[in-house]
Amino acid sequence: MQPQFLDHLRAELSAIDAAGLTKRERLITGPQGGRIPVGGRQMVNLCANNYLGLANHAEIVQAASKAIHQYGFGMASVRFICGTQDLHRQLEEATAAYVGQDDSILFAACFDANGGLFETLLGPDDAIISDALNHASIIDGVRLSKARRYRYATSDMDELETQLKLADTEGARFKLIITDGVFSMDGYVAKLPEIRALADKYGAILAVDDCHATGHLGPQGRGTAALTGAHVDIVTGTFGKTLGGAMGGFIAGPQPVIDLLRQRARPYLFSNALAPAVAAGALKALEIAEAADDRRATLMRHTQRFRAGLTTAGFDLLPGATPIIPVMLGEAQRAQHLAAALDRRGVYVAGFFFPVVPKGKARIRTQMSAALTDTDIDFAIGAFTEAGRELAII
Ligand SMILES: *Cc1c(COP(=O)(O)O)cnc(C)c1O
Repeated sequence: MQPQFLDHLRAELSAIDAAGLTKRERLITGPQGGRIPVGGRQMVNLCANNYLGLANHAEIVQAASKAIHQYGFGMASVRFICGTQDLHRQLEEATAAYVGQDDSILFAACFDANGGLFETLLGPDDAIISDALNHASIIDGVRLSKARRYRYATSDMDELETQLKLADTEGARFKLIITDGVFSMDGYVAKLPEIRALADKYGAILAVDDCHATGHLGPQGRGTAALTGAHVDIVTGTFGKTLGGAMGGFIAGPQPVIDLLRQRARPYLFSNALAPAVAAGALKALEIAEAADDRRATLMRHTQRFRAGLTTAGFDLLPGATPIIPVMLGEAQRAQHLAAALDRRGVYVAGFFFPVVPKGKARIRTQMSAALTDTDIDFAIGAFTEAGRELAII
């Protein structure tokens, strides 16, 4: 490779480091959980998307291991050639039923689901109206489509209406509004009833990416549509968070939507089928999640306890009711320093900063899990309080 090119990359890396923005990966030497082994220590884990604590659930592990013996390790094929097992269809049917849609289609990840959604369904005469804080995979998926793009400031209903009108003025044939169900960096729930009302007023389709909701929010964990009582036309989601935490994504919606995606969605047509063990584990995770009111209650209790503890200690939290609790710190280095001070005290968190969140809005995003105990929560509150004082943050 040309040395100049590698020098160019090294300069880029140095600039990232000089700005305090380097992301470092610590090695976990065991399964995901409320406490995780890191470098010989057991740390309290506050940064997994393991909301219901299913990532290492015994029945899910068992279902996956049974499937690996019965169905083998891999499919070595995309779905439409010879990669569809009965397991894949069962998972699609169970997912659709869970989120209240006709049918669903699996992808290797929700990143791919969002990559395939817009390009397949919409053409150059159509309009996509997207919340400014939507997940990177939605932004990329929208870029891949030929539809016209409109953006509204996050959860700003006036601006959404303005954009819907603008799309009409500019002659849009079909309009689709896309929003995260829960905004992952802030923990805010989208204003689905208001968005639904605007969608109906202007004849738009409403699609919601419910990655941070499916499995733990709403009755039986059915997600933000069930939580808010708003009907959603299309749902995208993941099996990589609450629903077992392995991998895999889906789109659920009306039959013709799913049928066309199966014919045309490029990340579906040109990418391998989910591994049997992953499909079987996800299927078991759905079954467990639906019945897991006990775990949802634990999750809610931790959320309230941790929020109250950090508020009393004097931290600046974003308000909200989801298990995502962002501790706001301003500059990236402040978030890095607090994360390091928490690490020394046995609490595993991650600092988030530009480009993941806007400049000057660095934070430690904590996430609650039903895998944590009350003792873990108190331990974490204590560690935050000590570390925050040490760094004069509180
Ligand atoms: C995590 C996440 C994704 C990506 O899901 P994967 O299955 O991990 O690819 C997409 N959208 C949102 C809103 C997410 O939070």
